[in-house]
Amino acid sequence: MRVWITRPLTEAVEARARDALDVEFRTETTPLDRDELHRALTEFDIVVPTLGDQFSAEVFGAVPQPRCRLLANFGVGYNHIDVAAAGASGIAVTNTPGAVTDATADIALTLLLMTARRAGEGERLVRAGNWQGWHPTQMLGHHVTGKRLGVVGMGRIGQAIAQRCHFGFGMEVSYLARSPKELSFPATQADDLRGLAASVDFLVIAVPGGAETTHLINADVLAAMKPSALLINIARGEVVDEAALISALQAGQIAGAGLDVYEFEPKVPDALIGMQNVTLLPHLGTATEEVRTAMGHMALDNVAACIAGQDLPNLVS
Ligand code: NAP
Repeated sequence: MRVWITRPLTEAVEARARDALDVEFRTETTPLDRDELHRALTEFDIVVPTLGDQFSAEVFGAVPQPRCRLLANFGVGYNHIDVAAAGASGIAVTNTPGAVTDATADIALTLLLMTARRAGEGERLVRAGNWQGWHPTQMLGHHVTGKRLGVVGMGRIGQAIAQRCHFGFGMEVSYLARSPKELSFPATQADDLRGLAASVDFLVIAVPGGAETTHLINADVLAAMKPSALLINIARGEVVDEAALISALQAGQIAGAGLDVYEFEPKVPDALIGMQNVTLLPHLGTATEEVRTAMGHMALDNVAACIAGQDLPNLVS
């Protein structure tokens, strides 16, 4: 079976793929363009796509009898793939859950701490040679320990964030989820998003992207937050209405934001770049050698299962 891997992956993963598969490696680091999306469905039996490869219903619709049988997505988030349209074309979709959880939760905490304690701003001050020295009222930020955390989307990553905040920082945790959760630490399930937003110091977004959650965090939710509260988004950019976020920050409705993802990624609005109270990371959630290798092996496990005619370990529906 002919396999296409649509981005360079870590050495360990590429070595395994080279040894075990009839594989073509794409060397570009950019998303597939229209012609390449078409090629993925017509020239390969299995494709390993990732974030940004827009397999929309239209792309599937343009290839009535695809050669492709499996999109073994590299990443847990698969909102760039229309899974229903893939299924209608006889193409299965798998992802890489679990491998990404701790690293992404760590980045949420990085954003929370950097934003609350003005770490980015402080680093810029030092690097610019403008630091005048310590004094008792220099760069006062927000205390983190003992504060109230709200998690929107209490899945694997949401729980890992809450766990870190409870055990590491003594925070009181509340969360929004569609189904009740059994947790190993105290946490309160909120009745509604606005109520949760109004009651916490740090609101962290950890829901999947896609039509159901687009602009879940809108002007209304931002207006409900305390003026001293921070918004942290490690989920997908489109979950937060970016224009509404900019307005809320400009109006002082919220105190700051920490973002790993953007609505029109990799475009980051100049308005956000100009704000000292916003921490901006370039989608670093899973960016460690170990995690990217674990994700790659998980994707290749799904490829191997497909070739062997076995059940796919990480089928999404
Ligand atoms: P997960 O285990 O499936 O958790 C997602 C949670 O969101 C589930 O608990 C689900 O609730 C909840 N949810 C879904 N729709 C909701 C809605 N409309 N309202 C409230 N809650 C909702 O997924 P995960 O592994 O934690 O990953 C979450 C997302 O993080 C991924 O989909 C991906 O987009 C993003 N991510 C980002 C990075 C990064 O680099 N920044 C890295 C990895 C992942 P139920 O449990 O009730 O179904």
